[in-house]
Amino acid sequence: MDDSHKSYEPKTHLGMAIDPIHVGTGGTGLGRVDNAIVRDPVTRVPKIPGSSLAGVFRTYAAMAQQAGEPNRQVDGKSKPYYPDCAGLGQPKGNNSGHCARNDCPICTTFGFARGNAGGFAGLAAFSDAHVLLFPVATREGPIWLTCPMAMRTVGQELNGVADDAVYRNGGSSQPLNLGWLLLPVKHLNGAESVTQALKERQVPEYILDHVAALPDKLFSHVVNSNLEVRTSVAIDPETGAAEDGALFTYEALPRATVLVWDVTCKNPAHFKAGGEQVAAVKSPDDVHKVVATAHPYFEHLGIGGMGTRGMGRLRVLSETASHAESATATAKEPS
Ligand SMILES: [Zn+2]
Repeated sequence: MDDSHKSYEPKTHLGMAIDPIHVGTGGTGLGRVDNAIVRDPVTRVPKIPGSSLAGVFRTYAAMAQQAGEPNRQVDGKSKPYYPDCAGLGQPKGNNSGHCARNDCPICTTFGFARGNAGGFAGLAAFSDAHVLLFPVATREGPIWLTCPMAMRTVGQELNGVADDAVYRNGGSSQPLNLGWLLLPVKHLNGAESVTQALKERQVPEYILDHVAALPDKLFSHVVNSNLEVRTSVAIDPETGAAEDGALFTYEALPRATVLVWDVTCKNPAHFKAGGEQVAAVKSPDDVHKVVATAHPYFEHLGIGGMGTRGMGRLRVLSETASHAESATATAKEPS
């Protein structure tokens, strides 16, 4: 399809945690854990902020670009995509930091803070990543929980999921424990449509067979009661010794949590970067391709803190046209 007239194009990404994922609030938390994870202020469900996603995508896309063009030169001088255009650290003088060029796929896709003609916001925008499917232990083995609010992100309306119960299709109708919470079981209407939507987005078969739904509020409660909470010793990397009294706890989304986020790519034809027409990418699809070069790195290097502790690896499962109405919003040219 010719997308040259679209102003922007959103795509829905699904990703699965290969390790526990800890994206911290940046501060020392109060209460039962020292290192709390970020939560949605309204629903209290843990999330990964879009700003964190954008930063990690940028770093990994810059690594990918660097791997493809290891000896990049600008004006006769070495100007590596990584680390310079990755946005790590503070620019020191004129020869480090973002290149801020209209022909740089990283700086045009992710933006730059300053350049000869000012900054640029970047062509790719990242939503927060939300929990779509959350694994919890039951006496029948693990099941993956979702809720009406979460399923709306993939265009599915869950009707009648309102009571304090586990809604499922098939399996026993006996009360089911979610962790320590015992709940009655009710039939999930429209389960086939839910399964189909998840299957189309490459959710693994072993999850599809074990999906159940809770009302939004109960979902938040059960997720928060079943996060991983780990205790660790803080090791001083200089000496290899444990720091004095440095036992700390942190919480994380468990392995096999499925997350969903949107990446909206603007049409480069409608924007100038640094006062010049964007030259590195020509269409929203080109911008998505730059974003997607980061995907293999997520699976190996992960996201969030604690990267060296076997944490944070995320497998991107799929990238599909967003169900959102904005997906079909074409040809609304900026005036
Ligand atoms: Zn650049």
